[in-house]
Amino acid sequence: MTKISPYIFNTYKRQPLRFVRGQGAYLWTDRGEKYLDFFSGLAVCGVGHANPQVAAAVARQAKELIHTSNLYFTVPQEKLAERLSKRTFGGKVFFSNSGAEANECAIKLARRFGHVHNRKGKDRYEIVVFENSFHGRTMATLSATAQKKYQKGFGPLLPGFRTAKRMDLASVKKCLTPRTCAVLIEPIQGEGGVRPADRRFLALLKALCRRHDLLLMFDEVQTGIGRTGYLYAYQCLDVIPDVLTSAKGLADGIPIGATLAKPAVADLLKPGDHASTFGGGPVVCAAALAVLDILTPAYLKRIRQTGEEISRRLMEMRSRNPVITDVRGRGLMWGVQLDRPGDAVVPFCRENGLLVNCTAGNVIRLLPPFCVGKKEIDRAMDLIEKAIFSLTTIKKNL
Ligand SMILES: *Cc1c(COP(=O)(O)O)cnc(C)c1O
Repeated sequence: MTKISPYIFNTYKRQPLRFVRGQGAYLWTDRGEKYLDFFSGLAVCGVGHANPQVAAAVARQAKELIHTSNLYFTVPQEKLAERLSKRTFGGKVFFSNSGAEANECAIKLARRFGHVHNRKGKDRYEIVVFENSFHGRTMATLSATAQKKYQKGFGPLLPGFRTAKRMDLASVKKCLTPRTCAVLIEPIQGEGGVRPADRRFLALLKALCRRHDLLLMFDEVQTGIGRTGYLYAYQCLDVIPDVLTSAKGLADGIPIGATLAKPAVADLLKPGDHASTFGGGPVVCAAALAVLDILTPAYLKRIRQTGEEISRRLMEMRSRNPVITDVRGRGLMWGVQLDRPGDAVVPFCRENGLLVNCTAGNVIRLLPPFCVGKKEIDRAMDLIEKAIFSLTTIKKNL
């Protein structure tokens, strides 16, 4: 039975499946049906479902020590921060429990930066965000999310966000005021329809930020942790942000958020300025350390190779199906844009044992776990093409 529980807020449009077990790229329901997962629990289970190394690290740590609070030092947190810093831009880390919280910390950090580096005694607090962005559901991150559909009915929003057009530096410049302190951008918009920011635009954005003393903040909650074939997407974009947020895949499904900032920026927050009871606890940090152990340079290279194969197959699919208007992505994060609503693709694939997602109305989003091989790719591509083809037999713009 998959009816809605009277005991749970009815905030999710759930599909009629109840999963009880997972392994690698596969999930099993309570009825024993097997599904190939090209969604990874929303870009979370990158190193696969119930990853044995992650599970072992969690079990080992849970038997040692589960929680102490941040009033004390803990070894896994220190190790994880050092590893993240050394594998990125040498910054410092604040740990929280979700993507929204990681962004919340980045927003507070930007405001503190604008308070300390004020203009003629006046605080700077405005943050430039982009059309169709997604940064989370807490009040501050919802305010940063430039999509009306998520904000409707929750006003008044937090003031101080200005929305620029994507890939449009002139539009960013128009958003700048003497109160601007930061720019927040997803290197590839996820919920907004898998829309990559191009390298040139990001380089210009970085230069603009330098010129106006603004923090450049990358929301890598979805693009991070190997998803694009790099530990973080910025690493193939030749633009280093001042602040970077990470979450989703970082602990393969145990809740975590991390805000990375260059030391001079991180040091603007002093003892007592920001905190999280659970943030950076021993168990989740042990899980994240196991994930980072798996994501070696060789493993990341394999993700890029798998991504190239998927990219090639999707381009071929596009050439055969005029209903596909665009194919976008990098690594193992892909969007197949259609000329009509794509929602029907999801149940079609599901009924054939494949989990995919449709975002922004007409973009089929693929976020497979990194372990998918030829067999999984063949099966998924075949089903997705059939699903898309089935749409063309229905009237356009239904
Ligand atoms: C999912 C997501 C978030 C929000 O993360 P939660 O863990 O759901 O709070 C923020 N930013 C981006 C880019 C995301 O994809």
